[in-house]
Amino acid sequence: THFVFASEPLPLAEVAVPASAEAAAPEVSIVIPVYNEAENLPELIRRVGEALAPTGRRFELILVDDGSRDASAALLREEAARRPWLVPVVLARNYGQSSALQAGFDRVRGRYVVTLDGDLQNDPLDIPAMLDRLDADDSVDMISGWRRNRQDAEISRKLPSRIANALISRATGVHLHDYGCALKAYRREIIDRIRLYGELHRFIPSLAKDAGARIAEVPVRHHARTRGVSKYGIDRTFRVILDLVLIVFFMRYRQRPLYAFGGLGLWLLTPGLGMLGHLGVLKLLGQDIGGRPLLMTGMLLSLIGVQLIVAGLVGEMLTRIYHEAGGRPQAHVRMDGAARRA
Ligand code: UDP
Ligand code: MG
Repeated sequence: THFVFASEPLPLAEVAVPASAEAAAPEVSIVIPVYNEAENLPELIRRVGEALAPTGRRFELILVDDGSRDASAALLREEAARRPWLVPVVLARNYGQSSALQAGFDRVRGRYVVTLDGDLQNDPLDIPAMLDRLDADDSVDMISGWRRNRQDAEISRKLPSRIANALISRATGVHLHDYGCALKAYRREIIDRIRLYGELHRFIPSLAKDAGARIAEVPVRHHARTRGVSKYGIDRTFRVILDLVLIVFFMRYRQRPLYAFGGLGLWLLTPGLGMLGHLGVLKLLGQDIGGRPLLMTGMLLSLIGVQLIVAGLVGEMLTRIYHEAGGRPQAHVRMDGAARRA
């Protein structure tokens, strides 16, 4: 059910936007969620600064502290005092990576948005080329990193992720080598059209394509985590599979839920009614129908069929309420060349 309704805006413990940053809107907004990454933060901030400064682009780095229990939040505030381009967003508790990203997206001001992980596994030096590509190539709205040389454990990380890649690309029709790479660059309008919650950050390319984005994939560097620990274990595999089923179902049937439920319902209801009709005729002819398995089967199929069709109708109503109450556009205007600059 959490795929139908967008999450509420997150309550924030504290949001500090430096006064100097308010004056001139940045061109690039970099969003990084961090959870217990105090050991990585100083170097992360330094390396993002060093990667972006030579490009001459005005940028902001929105660092979202996702309820860290280490010194991350204090460190963020400290670093932000010295850097006008650093925007610390400190969440009230640990909401998870998707919600932390969305909290950052809610605050972006640039026309380009870049995401990466806070553990220095992604290399900020890859960002300038991605931005140049967005500048130069009007036929691409989003660039997804491809960790060709991924530096993670083979069995516990790379294998499950290969399986997930294959499943997700088959199921959603978005074919990428590497869904899981956090390093991505987007045109702002794509970010504005999607909302992340639950574990949806794993499906961003599918959501973006659904929102009309044309996606390119470029190889990026990848480093082993040298400090801090991964926040995820093998237990996420199951949740990812469940999310995949839900997201595919939602994308396919959100306009007409009756097609999913009602179709199956009809397939069950028709033979069910047939069996009952057959038995009804026999009964009328004075035959004994007691204890016949057909009777049970016919009743079961008819009941389940009716239930499913009703479920589909309820779904249709919910869908309508969702679209009417949300007030969001059903189709987005493609922002090309002149339209984008206007
Ligand atoms: N993260 C977060 N909230 C969480 C878990 C993780 O903001 O609840 C951040 C984490 O600090 C890192 C990124 O999400 O910047 C990816 O997490 P991690 O590196 O642990 O995942 P992995 O690379 O092992 O998949
Ligand atoms: Mg990592």
